[in-house]
Amino acid sequence: MAAHHDFTAGTGAALAGLESTFADELGPLTVPWQGADAPDSRLLVVNEQLAASLQLDVAELRGADGIGVLSGSTAPIGANPVAMAYAGHQFGSYAPILGDGRALLLGERVNTAGRRVDVHLKGSGRTPFSRGGDGYAVVGPMLREYLVSEAMHALGNPTTRALSVVATGRQVRRNGAEPGAVLARVASSHLRVGTFEYAARQGEIVQSLADYAIVRHYPELAELPRTGAHNRYLGLFEAVVEVQASLVARWMLTGFVHGVMNTDNTTISGETIDYGPCAFLDAFDPAAVFSSIDHGGRYAFGNQPAVMKWNMARFAETLLRLIDSTPDTAITAVTAVLDTFDERYAGHYAAGMGAKLGVTGSTDRALIDDLLTVLVERRVDWTGTFRALADELRGNSAPLDALVPREHIGAWLERWRRILAEQGRGEVVTANAMDRVNPLYIPRNHQLDAALRAAANLDLAPFEKLLEVVTHPFERRDEWIDYTVAAPQSFSEEFQTFCGT
Ligand code: AMP
Ligand code: MG
Repeated sequence: MAAHHDFTAGTGAALAGLESTFADELGPLTVPWQGADAPDSRLLVVNEQLAASLQLDVAELRGADGIGVLSGSTAPIGANPVAMAYAGHQFGSYAPILGDGRALLLGERVNTAGRRVDVHLKGSGRTPFSRGGDGYAVVGPMLREYLVSEAMHALGNPTTRALSVVATGRQVRRNGAEPGAVLARVASSHLRVGTFEYAARQGEIVQSLADYAIVRHYPELAELPRTGAHNRYLGLFEAVVEVQASLVARWMLTGFVHGVMNTDNTTISGETIDYGPCAFLDAFDPAAVFSSIDHGGRYAFGNQPAVMKWNMARFAETLLRLIDSTPDTAITAVTAVLDTFDERYAGHYAAGMGAKLGVTGSTDRALIDDLLTVLVERRVDWTGTFRALADELRGNSAPLDALVPREHIGAWLERWRRILAEQGRGEVVTANAMDRVNPLYIPRNHQLDAALRAAANLDLAPFEKLLEVVTHPFERRDEWIDYTVAAPQSFSEEFQTFCGT
C-alpha cells in the first residue's frame, strides 16, 4: 500500500531530529507510513510542561508547522514514522493482527531526565492495520484521553502522557458527523503484551523484541545471560509482573477503572495506556463497570488485579521458548514467577491503603476490608472518604457525616483511631500526611462529560478549568469546592463510556 501524500505546506521543522530505534531494530514489526492530510487544523490544547521536558519549542509547536506535525499531515524532518504491528487478546479472545489502525509512531526523543520516549499520534488516518475502521479519532474522546492521562500523571500513577490535541477540520462519521482530532501521545514506549504475542507467532523476532525491551526498560537485566536458570528473559517477565502488579494497585487505590484491559492495552513499561472507556469511581463498588461493551463485567473495577494476572500469563507464553528450550522447564519457571503476582499486588495495595489511612507500620488487612465493606454497603464516595477521614482527625466530623451515617462507621472509626494512637504520631500530623496521598480532585464523570459537551460546541473554557483542577489533585482551593462533589445518582445510573470512539 502506498503512503498518503503530503498535502500541507509545512516543512516539518517542528519535532525535527526524532530517532527511530524501534523501526530500525525491529523493522518486521513496523510498516513505514504517513498521516492523512488535515483540511483545516487547529490546535486545541498543548502541554507546555511536557513539551519543555522534551526540549521542544512551544511557540514552534503552536505555529503552522508545529500544528502540521501534530496533526500528522507533515512528517517531522528526518523522521521515519511507522505503524506498529501487534496482536492481542480482546475480552479473552485472540486477535492475531491488530496493530496501529489509526495511529503512527513518529519516533523517539530523549527527554531532559535522560529517558527515551515515543512520540505517537492517534487519529492520524488509515494504515494497513485499519481493517474496517476509518483511521480517525474525534475531538471529545481525544480531549478525554488528554485530560484523564494528565490527571493520572498528577496522581502519581505511571501513564502515557498527552502532548497535544489538534482538531483536523475533517468531519468524521460516528453518531452523526463529529469533528476529527489527532492526539499526540508521549510514552516510555508502545511495547505491549500484544506486541510480544504478535512477534512470538512470527518466530525469531521475539528474541530481538525482548532484547530491545530489556535495553529500553530494564537495562540492568542485560547483564544476565541469555540462557540458564537466571536468564534475562525470565528476568524480563518478572520485571513486568512487578511493574504491572504495582500499576494495578495504583488503579485500585485511586478508584480508576481502565475498562478495556486487553493484552494489546497492557504495556511492557508498566504505564497505563489506552484511555478509551476508562472512568473514576464515585461510590466504591468492586462491580463497577462503565464501558458500554463490557456486558459480562470482565473488566469491572474489582476484577482488575485478576485480569492483569491473566494478561501476564499471556505474556509468559510469548517468552517460553526464550526462557528454556525444554517446554516443561520454561513453564515451571514462569509459573513460579506468575504465582508471585498476588502477593506483589497485595503488598502494594496494603502499603498504599496504609498511607491513605495514615497507618505507618504494616496495615491490618481486616481494618482495610472492614472499611471497604462499609463503603460498598453504603455506596460511599471513594475519593471523598479519605479526605473526610483526615478531617475527622482534625476534629471536623461534618465531611464524613455527609458521606456515611455515624452508626455505620462509628465502630470502625474507633478501631482505626486506636491503631493511630498506638503509633504515637499526633492526629494532625497524621491527617496532613494523609492529605498528601489522598486526592481532593479527580476527573469526575459528570464534570468531564459537561466539559466535553462544551468543547464540542467550541467552548474550551470548562475543559481548561477542569484540566487545571485535576492536574493539581492535592492542592485545596476554596474556589474549587464544586470539583470535590460526586455525580448525582441520576447521572451515575445512566453513565456509560465507549471504546475506540
Ligand atoms: P483500542 O480499542 O483503541 O485498543 O483499539 C483496538 C484496535 O482497533 C487497534 O488495532 C486500533 O488501532 C483499532 N482501531 C480502533 N479505532 C479505529 C479506527 N477508527 N480506525 C482504524 N482502526 C481502529
Ligand atoms: Mg488500544
